Amino acid sequence: MKGEVFSLTTATQLRTGTWQISLPFQGEQGIIGSYLLAGANEVALIDPGPSTTIEALLASIREAGFAPEDITHLVATHIHLDHFGAAGSLLRHLPRARVYVHSKGARHLLDPSKVVASATRIYGERMQQLWGEIEAVPQEKLQSIEGGDILNIAGRRLEVHYTPGHAVHHVIFFDVHSGELFAGDAAGVRLQGIDYVRPPTPPPDLDLEAWSETISKLKQLRPDVLYLAHFGPTTNVPQHLERLREKLYSWGELVLAQMRNGKDEAEIIESFIAQTQPELERIARDPHELARYEIATNYPMTVQGYMRYWKLKSQKR
Ligand SMILES: [Zn+2]
Repeated sequence: MKGEVFSLTTATQLRTGTWQISLPFQGEQGIIGSYLLAGANEVALIDPGPSTTIEALLASIREAGFAPEDITHLVATHIHLDHFGAAGSLLRHLPRARVYVHSKGARHLLDPSKVVASATRIYGERMQQLWGEIEAVPQEKLQSIEGGDILNIAGRRLEVHYTPGHAVHHVIFFDVHSGELFAGDAAGVRLQGIDYVRPPTPPPDLDLEAWSETISKLKQLRPDVLYLAHFGPTTNVPQHLERLREKLYSWGELVLAQMRNGKDEAEIIESFIAQTQPELERIARDPHELARYEIATNYPMTVQGYMRYWKLKSQKR
């Protein structure tokens, strides 16, 4: 029988009480990941994804052996649309779920209009096709969290750590007992089977100093495993994080040099790709993997994020 996207195995048990869910984004598996935690009669979903993959998410929850009615917590590492765009619409399917998000993201869930406007500037007419409807989360369902909080959910004790740099509303969740760290985008993008870390640097929040501090914080926690949103478990943690830090800065320098040369955005994107893509080509070998990295975090957005960061920094001087 010919397989459909939804009939593939998309829920993978990683450890006792931990599942990884792959959401089929733009026809590709292994790009956007959610994590499901189960224990003590609670089920939590970390980063349920965009609205366009809600049906697939619900199918994966069932595949992991749970019902949508079992979900008690919807937890955000950050509110970018590929991680948490589904939240408002998803609540209709998850009658018991409450939403947990950093205080800086909470107001954007109550009123998504600014997030939608900002994403529309980046994605234009592809908004609907990529992200679908962005619905508000009702106040009574919303729980604001901060770095330093402890979430006792799904039979675990999860430390919340504030991790800005990629986004001002970014947190990670660390299970001290198991050593699992749910990293969202703070630990970068690394697709499975390819030894290459790429910093996702979208506008408007990119902050190299804050992100570098975040990287140091993640290292100090000494996790056994990083669970990346894009995508999956990474166990060689210190090396992975130092590679991320190196790329974050060296890519920033490439963009800055072009800006100083008076190049415009289109020219900078072109030369940025010419300078950075050969390394990925060499490591990935398969051209399709380049396209997959581009779906996870694309070059134009990468450059736009750095350009905005450098412009803001020069204004502050
Ligand atoms: Zn993000």
